[in-house]
Amino acid sequence: MEHTLDALVLGAADYKDDDKLLTLFTAERGVLRARIRGVKKPKAKLGFAAQPFTFAEFVLVEKGEYYTVKSAYLYDGFYNLRSDVVKFYAGSVVLAVAKETVPENEEFRPLFIAAVQALKELCYTDADPLETLIGYLLLAAGESGYSIDLSGCGSCGGEIKEAPHFDFGTGCFTCSECGGGSRASESTYHVLRKCSGLTYDEGKTQGGKKRALRLMKVFLGEKTETEFPALGELLQLCGDE
Ligand SMILES: [Zn+2]
Repeated sequence: MEHTLDALVLGAADYKDDDKLLTLFTAERGVLRARIRGVKKPKAKLGFAAQPFTFAEFVLVEKGEYYTVKSAYLYDGFYNLRSDVVKFYAGSVVLAVAKETVPENEEFRPLFIAAVQALKELCYTDADPLETLIGYLLLAAGESGYSIDLSGCGSCGGEIKEAPHFDFGTGCFTCSECGGGSRASESTYHVLRKCSGLTYDEGKTQGGKKRALRLMKVFLGEKTETEFPALGELLQLCGDE
């Protein structure tokens, strides 16, 4: 049986002979693995399709539990990501998070669209790469059932004015009166609100991007039991904001 699917290449591992085993992220079937033949040969026609970040239309042949790539038509390889180390690592985190959170053979369209959109934004716009990534991570967490609640205090429902707390178990922020969880900075809270399209106080975002990323790293790490080394590398690279 043949399937034509738009897919993002999340990874490519060596396989038998000159073949590779691709991890593909598709809108219709979530993450799936597909063998691609002969791509380790120097002049392989489908060599481009075995590169992480490749966004292409794939024709896959399904046989039993296995998929093999028959052909691929390139939409975008996001090659420019390789010319900026911060953008490259931010893009790598986009792929790594999809790999760990997207189920196999299950439709996962909103995150697929968000991943392609985030890579486009990183590659072709002047948007702040850390903010692009934070927005994507918030969506990825929500799509995986681990929403972070930024609507106000998760305990009394009031507005959070200062000294927020964050509960890593429930994904809720609470106000200083209600407390609970761990102390979080105001800048983390305001950057997270900014990146999810909510109102925020620009004066309180200073220094918050790295803190917000650290919070997301711990939160997603606990929920998925994964380390996300690319996110650690990115945090090291960013130095002081
Ligand atoms: Zn409260």
